[in-house]
Amino acid sequence: MGAEQWMRSALLSLAKNRAANRWAQRYGLRLGAQRFVAGETMESAIACVRDLNRQGLRVTLDHLGEFVADAAEANRLADDCIAALQAIHEAKADASLSVKLTQLGMDIRLDVCMDNMRRILDVAKACNLSVNIDMEDYPRCQQTLDIYRTLRKDYPLLSTVIQAYLYRSLDDVLQLSQEGAALRIVKGAYKEPPEVAFPDKADVDANYLKLVEAQLLGNGYTMIATHDEAIIAHVKSFIASHQIPKDKYEFQMLYGIRSNLQQQLVREGYPVRVYVPYGTDWYGYFMRRLAERPANVGFVLRGMFQ
Ligand SMILES: Cc1cc2nc3c(=O)[nH]c(=O)nc-3n(C[C@H](O)[C@H](O)[C@H](O)COP(=O)(O)OP(=O)(O)OC[C@H]3O[C@@H](n4cnc5c(N)ncnc54)[C@H](O)[C@@H]3O)c2cc1C
Repeated sequence: MGAEQWMRSALLSLAKNRAANRWAQRYGLRLGAQRFVAGETMESAIACVRDLNRQGLRVTLDHLGEFVADAAEANRLADDCIAALQAIHEAKADASLSVKLTQLGMDIRLDVCMDNMRRILDVAKACNLSVNIDMEDYPRCQQTLDIYRTLRKDYPLLSTVIQAYLYRSLDDVLQLSQEGAALRIVKGAYKEPPEVAFPDKADVDANYLKLVEAQLLGNGYTMIATHDEAIIAHVKSFIASHQIPKDKYEFQMLYGIRSNLQQQLVREGYPVRVYVPYGTDWYGYFMRRLAERPANVGFVLRGMFQ
């Protein structure tokens, strides 16, 4: 294993360490995490949404939190998601909400998770806002898709995510696109074994293109979520040659990553949405961003010693 791969693997293991997560929450939004997180409060998140909207960028807000271990905590986090939807509605902002099912109780009991999702989706429906179910690690993939399919019957504005590193994903996209599902296509951010996921980046990138093309040609909406310029260039020419209308797709990127590219796409007339996380539970999200680009660890170390 090369040094970069070793670092990536170590950072992704640390991302799921509960003791380190508790330590980070006490320590506050530091270590350079501010680069990727819009603040710890809803007010800071809404200020960030307004600023991005002014620049012509849509937003999806993520109230941080994952792998929650008790029902009371899951219910409290669902209340926070509802408050976020209400704040978006009151601010008349161009924003949706992204949630993680482990934040809402999926690892505790299915009924806790479903009740929380329905509470969130009822408010979203009343405010005419869309909600996305983020995809977490492989052991939770099938259950996430099952929950998505069940809820989508009652909440048509619900979308979910497919990860290009998983071998199963092309089958999932072909099936879901026939069903008209709205899908965000990503490369995948968790540590997965070679039994379920392509170990080589070149295979993940090639699969990413297959998934996006299949979804763009299908019946559903496509969210092309990547910062990869080669992939974005390829998708732009695919969209042009197949005359895919602008209301069938959008590009998506993470807050704090390739902001120049986000603005360039807006100038070129493409729909672009930025994923904006906020809240105190920033640790796991931050560690995954470091793992994607271990060079990022350099600015963390500089921040610690400044
Ligand atoms: C809107 C959105 C939502 C997402 N939702 C999910 C989800 O639900 N589940 C999931 O598993 N994953 C999710 N991801 C993360 C995704 O799986 C990848 O881990 C992440 O996007 C990096 O892959 P990439 O496509 O940008 O390509 P890469 O090949 O990793 O990166 C391409 C280029 O982008 C830049 N870049 C990428 N990451 C970073 C970084 N952290 N810091 C600085 N520069 C960087 C670099 O210039 C790099 O060369 C999401 C990503 C986005 C954009």
